[in-house]
Amino acid sequence: MSIDRPIYMDNASTTRTDPRVVEAMLPYFTEIYGNSASRNHSFGWDAEEAVTIARGQAAALIGAGPKEIIWTSGATESNNLAIKGAARMHAKAPAGSTGRGHIITATHEHKAVLDPCKRLEREGFDVTYLEPPSDGIITRKMVEGAMREDTILVTVMWANNEIGTINEVPEIGALCHERGALMHTDATQWVGKMPTNVESDNIDLMSFSSHKLYGPNGVGALYVRRRRPRVRIEAMLDGGGHERGMRSGTLNVSGIVGFGKACELCSEEMAEDAERLFKLRTRMENELSAALDVVAVNGHPDRRLPHLTNISFGFVEGESLMMGIGNIACSSGSACTSASLEPSYVLKALGVGDELAHSSLRLSLGRWTTEEEVDTATRGIIKAVKHLRSMSPLYDLHNEGIDISTINWQSH
Ligand SMILES: *Cc1c(COP(=O)(O)O)cnc(C)c1O
Repeated sequence: MSIDRPIYMDNASTTRTDPRVVEAMLPYFTEIYGNSASRNHSFGWDAEEAVTIARGQAAALIGAGPKEIIWTSGATESNNLAIKGAARMHAKAPAGSTGRGHIITATHEHKAVLDPCKRLEREGFDVTYLEPPSDGIITRKMVEGAMREDTILVTVMWANNEIGTINEVPEIGALCHERGALMHTDATQWVGKMPTNVESDNIDLMSFSSHKLYGPNGVGALYVRRRRPRVRIEAMLDGGGHERGMRSGTLNVSGIVGFGKACELCSEEMAEDAERLFKLRTRMENELSAALDVVAVNGHPDRRLPHLTNISFGFVEGESLMMGIGNIACSSGSACTSASLEPSYVLKALGVGDELAHSSLRLSLGRWTTEEEVDTATRGIIKAVKHLRSMSPLYDLHNEGIDISTINWQSH
């Protein structure tokens, strides 16, 4: 790899496909290219066998049975299928009632959860959006307080994609099972990084995605519980009735083979990866807070993914900070959409002010992140922040002990 390429610290957006995964996929383009649904010849049988092996690999990673894995195009589709599919299947229309049922989620979920919930509201479902406390953690207690007689579904992500905080998912799942509601979790940032067992963790529906765990893009999975309780969901696509009728369409065999291999590698290597990356992240956070003042790690200090950090830097401007760290590929708290420059809604939900949200970085490490890269990136960030602050009159005022939040900017 060339020296001048930026350092990749955006693994929460997508990961590099593991070369071992690519190698496993290659035969499935030009040699074993049958349609896995073709029952009349060996091209189809061979493809189906490969899909079956991958199903086993994905199931083993999460403690599920192979028949409980439904292949999709990614976690966005899995979330849509789980949330809309479960709500529509279990819609309640008791005589005299107005709504069709109640759903609980949180305001700092991924858009691929929030937008399906919004659509269901337009269809007559009630949705409660829990507001996280400043540590970002959704607890069993919070969900319990929002539970109603007609609650059909709770959808709470396992780990947050921007701040890495870990919600009380097994505890919330247990609550759902006590109350007869279904538990869905968007586990896209969790599965493959942290140990998962859908049985002991009380999960009914779980979304995860290949490209977040060192597999190829465009493949995902939805875990759908088959026993205690048997979960039924309405399909979104009508067609050939693939995937037990829940997701029609010819399977992406090469992608699924890669996803399966990636799951197998995660099963074997995630403990070691997590330990190594936790050390690197700790080193990075310690160096940054030793060298700079007015820095804050967003979200709960401990209850978060080991390989991800989200840090706000006071007295720097977001855009300038991103330009100043051009050698680091990462995400910022500024979600630049074409028309507006809105700060991250996740950070805002935690109560982080607009200024600090704009000047925050999400640094997510991965399987190939080296100690040298971490040190180079850390030095680069320190240098950029110091440089920007050296030109900031507000930082001067801060250093003179003036609390700038108390200044009345209107009067002179
Ligand atoms: C990346 C991500 C998604 C979307 O996954 P795709 O596979 O890209 O559709 C959904 N939820 C979370 C938490 C994510 O991090």
